[in-house]
Amino acid sequence: MFREGPRVLGQLGNTYIVCEVKDGFMLVDQHAAHERVVYEGLREGYSASRVEVQEFLVPYNLELSGKEAGVVAKRADQFQRLGIQLEHFGGNTFLMRSAPALLGNAEWDTLIADLVGEMESGPVDDQAVLDKALTVMACHGAIRAGKRMSVDEMGELLEQLNRMNLPTNCPHGRPIFKHFTYGELERMFKRVV
Ligand SMILES: [Zn+2]
Repeated sequence: MFREGPRVLGQLGNTYIVCEVKDGFMLVDQHAAHERVVYEGLREGYSASRVEVQEFLVPYNLELSGKEAGVVAKRADQFQRLGIQLEHFGGNTFLMRSAPALLGNAEWDTLIADLVGEMESGPVDDQAVLDKALTVMACHGAIRAGKRMSVDEMGELLEQLNRMNLPTNCPHGRPIFKHFTYGELERMFKRVV
């Protein structure tokens, strides 16, 4: 769809990327697009058993509820396989020592709470549980709507999508982009009937 690679025209409302394509233009939802990129990256890493991790210089302190602590204690090895190293510190406190590199600087408390919610239903070897866990992580790791992006960042994101053959939906099933052709514009402006 791209001529020689994506040509970014700008960002709308700090949420949508406007991009020129061969036969018109595209509006891309930046969160949905990045979510899909992060999801695929995590899934690839997981199936190859080598999720790229960032080790924290100072471990992050997680204060969990009793119920959450129970799930984390029981599934610590599975969190580890997802790239999240959690170590019991006493009571309901856990030290988080690493996270997948793809997640950047997510909000760890809510990420772990959401992950626990998915992982209490079963082990991550279960395809459905793994899918949900990866979706949760991708959502937390993805660029938010409302975040200003530079032209380079937008171009890089579109390149990544292009390499994945322009997937149409985010892991939640929402559309990633909307394509407008010159044909549609011509009809819209009554240049043709
Ligand atoms: Zn999301």
